[in-house]
Amino acid sequence: MLINNDTIVKDSDPKIRQKSKPVSLPLSKEDETLLRELFQYVKDSTDPELAEANNLRPAVGISAIQVGVPKQLTAVIVHEVDNEEKEITHEYMLVNPKIVSSSVQKAYLNSGEGCLSVQEEHEGHVVRSARVTVKAFDLIQNKEITIRARGYLAIVLQHELDHFKGVLFYDHINPNNPFEEIEGALVI
Ligand SMILES: [Zn+2]
Repeated sequence: MLINNDTIVKDSDPKIRQKSKPVSLPLSKEDETLLRELFQYVKDSTDPELAEANNLRPAVGISAIQVGVPKQLTAVIVHEVDNEEKEITHEYMLVNPKIVSSSVQKAYLNSGEGCLSVQEEHEGHVVRSARVTVKAFDLIQNKEITIRARGYLAIVLQHELDHFKGVLFYDHINPNNPFEEIEGALVI
């Protein structure tokens, strides 16, 4: 499948609001191929030369509905720096991921969120949980995994899993007060 900025489903298309269905395991060849293509998109999109040559918008994640397939498949690559200034890369090819618990504490990205399916800017605090626990089958590790995510990774996972429900990031922005201060929230 050709995945680029022209073929990705935008929010002007009602399909982006469609709900995604769980996928059966073991993965069919078709589902596995799609998930690997989604992952490759994310990987290539952050390489400036490949992005330029292939019309890719940089991304940290993409879900299957964004290429028009309503299945619970998502690929995520998040780079982080830990407390000891060490770079860590979180890479996942997730099948049927589910949030099994989320913190009461909220978090949001100070600069707001973006999405491959959204071309206009939507400014404001996208308020999410600061920590989430996600269970999924991960094709990279080829097993069921539990992800205990905090900070940026937690935000990215919630953004991607929202796509399964047809929810977009700006649905979470308070229309009456987009930059509302949230008490006790972690600002990332
Ligand atoms: Zn998105």
